Amino acid sequence: MDTHKKMAALNEVLAYAKTSNYYSNRIPQLPIKSLADLAHIPFTTKNDLRSQSPYGLLPSQAESLSQYHESSGTTGQPVSVWYSDKDLDEITSRIATCGVNFNQEDIVLIRFPYALSTISHFMHRTVQKQRGCVVPADSRTTVTPMPKVINLLRNLNVTVLACISLQAIMLAEVAEMQGLNPKTDFPFLRAICTAGEPLTPYRRSLIEGIWGVPVFDNYGMTEIGTAMIDCPSQQMHLFDDCFHIEVLQDDFQTEVNDGECGNLVVTTLRKRATPMIRYATGDIVQVKHSKCLCGASCSFVIRGRKDDMITINSVQFDLYEVEKIISKLPARRFWSVGNWKNHLYLFVEQESEHDMVPKEYIDSLKTAYGIDLSIFLLEKGTLYDRKDPLSFGMEAKPRYYLTEKETQSLLTQIKIF
Ligand SMILES: [Zn+2]
Repeated sequence: MDTHKKMAALNEVLAYAKTSNYYSNRIPQLPIKSLADLAHIPFTTKNDLRSQSPYGLLPSQAESLSQYHESSGTTGQPVSVWYSDKDLDEITSRIATCGVNFNQEDIVLIRFPYALSTISHFMHRTVQKQRGCVVPADSRTTVTPMPKVINLLRNLNVTVLACISLQAIMLAEVAEMQGLNPKTDFPFLRAICTAGEPLTPYRRSLIEGIWGVPVFDNYGMTEIGTAMIDCPSQQMHLFDDCFHIEVLQDDFQTEVNDGECGNLVVTTLRKRATPMIRYATGDIVQVKHSKCLCGASCSFVIRGRKDDMITINSVQFDLYEVEKIISKLPARRFWSVGNWKNHLYLFVEQESEHDMVPKEYIDSLKTAYGIDLSIFLLEKGTLYDRKDPLSFGMEAKPRYYLTEKETQSLLTQIKIF
C-alpha cells in the first residue's frame, strides 16, 4: 500500500476508533499528517485491553456484532474481542490466500480449540468459503481424544490437518503407538496448517519429515485476527492492506533494520468492530526485506513471546534458538527448557533408548554461547505423560519454558540434584 493510501486508511480508522470509550481521549486531533504523527499516539497494551473489556473498545459506529472471542490470559480479567460479519469475511478471504490453497476437494480436520478462541473459527469459515468440507475436532474436548482424531483422519480421507505444531507431533506419536506410519498410512493427507505458536524452520522440517507433507503456518492472535500467512513458498507475509505494523527496538521508538528482530506493534487499517491502534503485541518478529518467489517484498519470522524468552549473561534463548540447538540432537520431538542459577537446562524426551548427546556437542555450545549449559535426554513420558492415551495431547498448553522452580523440581525428579 502506498503512503498516500495508507495515511487515508489510517485517518479513517483513527476517526472511527476515536468514537470508542477507550480511544476517545488517546487519539489526537485528526487528521494526522504522517507516520511520525502516528508515533505520538500511545501504545495499546494487553493490560489496557483487559481493563477495557468487554465493551470499552467498541466504537459507537461499529457494525452489528457477529462473534465474540476472549484471549486466554493466565491471570485475571480476560481480553474481549468482537468481530462483525464484515471483519470475518475480510479475515477469511485473506486466509484463503494461504499457500495451502484450500479447495472443494479438501476435507480439513480442524484440531484447534473452539471455545472462545479465534483460529478454529477463522479456519473453519475459510475452508467452507473455499467449498471444502470441515471436520471440527476441537483439541480441548473429551469428545475427540487423540485416538479418535487418528480414526477420523484415516476413515474420512482427510486432506489437510490444521492444528498447533506440537499437536501435529503428538498426533504422529499416537498414530505410531497404534502401529501406523504417519508418512504412509494417511495417503490422502496433502498438507498441515499450523498456527498458535511460532513455527521455527527446525520444527517445520521435523513435522514435514514425520508426516511427509508440507506445513503452512499462520500468524495472528485473538486481538487482531490472522495477520500473516505462509505463501506457496512457505514464507510468512503480512496482509498489508489490513494492518500497519511497526517493528521496534527495545526503546519502542526506533524501527529495526532489515534482518533484525524487534517488538511487533500492530494497527488495524480496517474499521474492525474492535479496532487496535498501536497494539504492542508482546511478540518478537524478524523482518526480511527481500523479494519472495510469490512477488511479496517483505517476509517475517515469528520468534515468539518476549516474556517467554530466557536470558542468561545477555544471551537470549527464544524458541528459535532453543530449537536450533535441538535440531542437531537424535531426539527432537518433545522438549522443555529452563534457567536455574544462570545455567541453561535443556530436557528432551528420548525417541529411542540408544539416543545420546555427544559431549563434544555440549562443549561446542558452551563455547559458542559463553554460558553453562546441559542437555538431558529423558525417558519418554517424562515431559508429556503417555500412560493415558486419552489424555495425552489434551493439555491446554505446551510446556516449553519451565520456571526456575519447575526446572529445579525436574532436576530433582531425574536425580541430577
Ligand atoms: Zn511469498
